Amino acid sequence: MSDEGQRLSFVGTSDLAGLIRGKSFPEGEWAKRTRRGIGWTPTNVQITCFDAIAETPFGSLGDLVLVPDETTRFRLGGARPLDFSLGDIRSLEGEPWDFCTRSLARKALNQLHEVAGAHVVAAYEHEFQLRDVPARRGDSYGFKGFRDAQAWAEPLMDALTAAGIVPDSFMKEYGPGQYEVVMKPAQGLAAADNAALLRLLTHDVLGGLGLKPTFAPILDPDSVGNGLHVHMSFVDDGGTPLTHDATDPHGLSPLTRHFIGGVLTYLDQILALLAPSEISYLRLTPHRWSAAFNNLGYRDREASVRICPVTAQDPEGIAKQFNFELRAADCAASPFLTMAAMVFAGVQGIRDRIDPPAPTQEDLSLLTPEALEAKGFRRLPTSLDEALKRFSGSAMVRQWFGDGFVDLYTAHKRGEMAAIADLDWRAKCDRYAEVY
Ligand code: GLU
Ligand code: MG
Repeated sequence: MSDEGQRLSFVGTSDLAGLIRGKSFPEGEWAKRTRRGIGWTPTNVQITCFDAIAETPFGSLGDLVLVPDETTRFRLGGARPLDFSLGDIRSLEGEPWDFCTRSLARKALNQLHEVAGAHVVAAYEHEFQLRDVPARRGDSYGFKGFRDAQAWAEPLMDALTAAGIVPDSFMKEYGPGQYEVVMKPAQGLAAADNAALLRLLTHDVLGGLGLKPTFAPILDPDSVGNGLHVHMSFVDDGGTPLTHDATDPHGLSPLTRHFIGGVLTYLDQILALLAPSEISYLRLTPHRWSAAFNNLGYRDREASVRICPVTAQDPEGIAKQFNFELRAADCAASPFLTMAAMVFAGVQGIRDRIDPPAPTQEDLSLLTPEALEAKGFRRLPTSLDEALKRFSGSAMVRQWFGDGFVDLYTAHKRGEMAAIADLDWRAKCDRYAEVY
């Protein structure tokens, strides 16, 4: 790129719709903008994923600033490179804004540290599909599909690396035109930053090559979904792993057990944050290898929380690698809200010493509702409407996120639903595919 002329620096926020929106300024102003930010409007928070503005308590009033965070800054490549960063939304006085997703995630992570002296180490595992690619038999996990993708997958790995994300693996997934990208874990907020960037970079790199990737939760009501699986473990201030305990039958330390206990107890109440679109609930049905019940699974890919296998053989290696994954999540959500919801629920589990139900290794969809209840399991909400009712009716969620956030988010999602109310399921899938 030529060094002549103006260069712009873009700062983005991952909003309630799970999209990156933002503004740019001349790159030479970077230092000033890290102190003062760039102007932002409160009502922007109610711009739904379809751009219609949901009911807003702010109207045309108020002012905020979007402040770039140096730790997220990198140079986005492509035909026209760009100085890029993620930022926090703050008041003019510099306080975190109650509806800034990144600030909410930070607040939850700080609580975990206060309560348990623990830091989250997480890796978001993403599935996505290429739109307009005809299905081809024999393609699931196939070499041909991988080879087709190599021309964009390798530039994508380069783009991830340039953004400070360490790639772990890449593969052709099961579904038509479906792929999976896994990143190495990162500590604290950086894990959610990486997830937001991975989605942006996938669109940027593949879009630049004329492809149309989508992270929408499901493209076809009759097919498999695109999951987001969040792998998590814990370390203390010195980096010592806190997740594993060799004396527990499933290897869970008390911290891990209680954290998972909290997540599963409140899962139905936070689901509207984790799986926040109407079509998310087409995916969260039995036999799609996603999640349909509030269960803990031991190496079971139909559990909401799954205890993952480790390949290490030595105690130190096992302690370091040991992790669990949340599977009842998708990419219609901001990765910061995913993190905030999980961690607030997990911290509550730690505070109240909640034990999770015993891990399942059976098909829960075969049980009667009574048998399910006797085992301590619940079917997760089966629609966004139901999930929003549990969310907005939850005293605990209100305590974690604040009444203002819960009411605003509910109105946001109601506005999103209204925008597509007249469409059938296939058309709804198409709308979401366009956006995510
Ligand atoms: N596509 C599945 C989902 O919606 C996950 C398949 C897998 O286990 O990787 O979560
Ligand atoms: Mg997968």
